[in-house]
Amino acid sequence: MDTKVSAHDGANSASVVDGDFPAAGAPQPLQARQHRYLQALIEAGLLIPGGVDGVYGRSAEFEAIVDGLNIAFTALGVDQHAEVMRFPPGMSRNHFEKSEYLKSFPQLAGTVHSFYGNDRDHHRLLARLEDSEEWADEQRPTRVVLTPAACYPIYPVIARRGVMPPEGCVVDAMSYCFRHEPSLDPMRMQMFRQREYVRLGNADQVIAFRQLWIDRGQQFAALLELPHEVRLANDPFFGRCGKIVADSQRELKLKLELLVPIHDGAPPSACMSFNYHMDHFAQVWALRTADGAPAHTGCAGFGLERMVLALLRHHGFDLAHWPKGVRATLGGL
Ligand code: AMP
Ligand code: ZN
Repeated sequence: MDTKVSAHDGANSASVVDGDFPAAGAPQPLQARQHRYLQALIEAGLLIPGGVDGVYGRSAEFEAIVDGLNIAFTALGVDQHAEVMRFPPGMSRNHFEKSEYLKSFPQLAGTVHSFYGNDRDHHRLLARLEDSEEWADEQRPTRVVLTPAACYPIYPVIARRGVMPPEGCVVDAMSYCFRHEPSLDPMRMQMFRQREYVRLGNADQVIAFRQLWIDRGQQFAALLELPHEVRLANDPFFGRCGKIVADSQRELKLKLELLVPIHDGAPPSACMSFNYHMDHFAQVWALRTADGAPAHTGCAGFGLERMVLALLRHHGFDLAHWPKGVRATLGGL
């Protein structure tokens, strides 16, 4: 990914944490700066260490910003007449298997296991635990997996309803998501929330929807006074074949991201994604438009934690000193 970023007027690029770094000439490696930002967030009490990289508690202030973003996203999408669906952060393993997530991202998936044994098995488990031995293989998979993206549980629900109305449909989804990518970069968590608007309909409807949200996403980032740019992107498809799939995804322009710079001179971070799946999910689920054709789908996904962290990075840790317009955009934060 290119590191060139167009800064917007009015955006305060003053660094919250870079000031602690050695002066120019002795730049710290990116990883060290990411870790430093994490430390600063923890010291300020905004994030609470969860004992494993990428899993954190959030403070009242952090959650107030998340609430503000959710209020703003609801207002931004009010004309979509979206059906609100909220699922827990675990979903059906059957649905997950059918979605073909494992074909593309086996390295990111998380499954839920539990104990099915008898008393003897239980004693063995406890003995292994006591001896600090690996005990997790005493468990077996349940029918639940961790949700990898907020839109995944939606498709089978819509498919079960049968043929869609001529206007198709829009769903407003939000979920904690899991991705196995432990990191000291606070922008890359293992458990984080996505708010999504998901569009199902014919190709024209989905393409128009995606463009609408690319425009809205940029307007929203400008209102939040965040420097940003929209760029073509690809997902981290696994393995040697993954490179070919990623190239094709780029060639077909299926994924665009709104990027915000976090550390000077480093690649910016994706805070919003605008995806067009073509008829992928209709090949998996019986998603049919009013005329019986396989439906196309797309989604506009907002990374709530990443947006909070971008706001804190650019406007500082003291919410009372954030620009008035930004606070107003976030529901009067
Ligand atoms: P994706 O489904 O990969 O397009 O992700 C949608 C949005 O979720 C991205 O634009 C990010 O803002 C956010 N996101 C993705 N992965 C992570 C992560 N590991 N930690 C925090 N946010 C993430
Ligand atoms: Zn999605």
